[in-house]
Amino acid sequence: MPTKSQPKIKRSFQTAKGMRDILPEDQAYWEKIRKVIRNLTRTYGFKRIDTPILEDKDLFVKGIGAYTDIVEKEMYTLRTKGGEKLALRPEFTPAIMRAYLENGLSSLPHPVMLYSLGPIFRYERAQKGRYRQSYQANFEIIGENDPILDAKLIQLFFSISKEIGLKEIITQINSIGCSRCRPAYRRKVVSFYRSRKKQLCVDCQRRLQQNPLRLLDCKESKCMQIAAQAPQTIDYLCEDCNGHFKNVLEYLDELEIPYILNPYLVRGLDYYTKTVFEFWPEEEEGRQIALGGGGRYDNLIKLLGGKDTPSVGFAMGLDRMINLMKAREIKVASKNRPLIFLVQLGELSKKRSLGLFEELRRAGLETASSFSRDTIKSQLRIANKRQARLALILGQKEALDETIIIRDMVSGSQEVVPLAKVVKEVKKRLKNN
Ligand code: AMP
Repeated sequence: MPTKSQPKIKRSFQTAKGMRDILPEDQAYWEKIRKVIRNLTRTYGFKRIDTPILEDKDLFVKGIGAYTDIVEKEMYTLRTKGGEKLALRPEFTPAIMRAYLENGLSSLPHPVMLYSLGPIFRYERAQKGRYRQSYQANFEIIGENDPILDAKLIQLFFSISKEIGLKEIITQINSIGCSRCRPAYRRKVVSFYRSRKKQLCVDCQRRLQQNPLRLLDCKESKCMQIAAQAPQTIDYLCEDCNGHFKNVLEYLDELEIPYILNPYLVRGLDYYTKTVFEFWPEEEEGRQIALGGGGRYDNLIKLLGGKDTPSVGFAMGLDRMINLMKAREIKVASKNRPLIFLVQLGELSKKRSLGLFEELRRAGLETASSFSRDTIKSQLRIANKRQARLALILGQKEALDETIIIRDMVSGSQEVVPLAKVVKEVKKRLKNN
């Protein structure tokens, strides 16, 4: 009963802005992509790791960088009753590196190859393809500098895409150098932009002080025009970074993976070094709907308190992969096993059906029932709707006689068999069909 201080409010609840339900009709897409990822990661040698959704807020501030959009604008943070400052993970990588260090995974033979699947949270402007809770598959190869691993991850993205029927995807790729060559490049960028500061958008004017490389990938048209004249990273790479990048591109050529060099791709996070890349549907070029992205982060583990451990990784946006599958009308075949529908009438048969349901399920038969419906007719109607192959009818007489009726739902023919032999009889009929 509402009290005086709690007036009766008539309202219907909705998902919070930017959040959405994934309905039963869409689950086949999600199952398909997860299955493909599970199979391919096994072939490629990845092990699964799951980390908590909530982490110490400072892990992301330190790992991603205080002056990034994610940390400045998009992170969901909270303070617990005990006073801890936590954040809903806005991405996986810092959390995976924390887990790697905390659980002694650094003592395993390297490279350590890990993957995760799960939600991330970003307080972004909600629109189609941009959600505040979205789902990623995240892949990391930890502890190797070899450029072949950068190419191998890109190859993995294309293998997954191909398996789910997505073609016409292009890789955008760039190298943003390392701690040796990037400072000089950064200075060049700052001096280039300083004289043009007034022409920049408000965000970029601020970024110029804190994260100047972000100016290169601003999507405001006036900033894009200026960026087109800006110094490009690849002209300032040291010998090591240059050689590494050249090798990555050679491997991609060898694998016949489509890519374009994008000198403005910087990925915006502090931890990246050398190779950075994103995957785009061909028709989306120029819009903000990348399917995935990643790169090298040779300094991240050290930054989080570990040893120098060069690593590379990427995240795939599952929501966007599925949206693209739908937009391109890719069908996911639901390979349903033939359905057996259990129909019962009367109290005794209802009781018997409970055990029988379990027996059929244990025998590997896909079984359904509608125990709450009373008439045979209404239960058969449901069996029909669900396209059951066979119905097993257990009426009062059958329950007493220890028999059951097997009804072929296509031909309508019926046969009485002993209850003890029902599994064998059902299997025989399915085989003959
Ligand atoms: P990022 O590391 O930010 O480039 O994220 C990697 C991928 O995750 C992106 O390319 C998107 O496919 C996906 N993603 C990131 N944020 C969102 C979001 N808010 N909504 C939907 N997908 C997202």
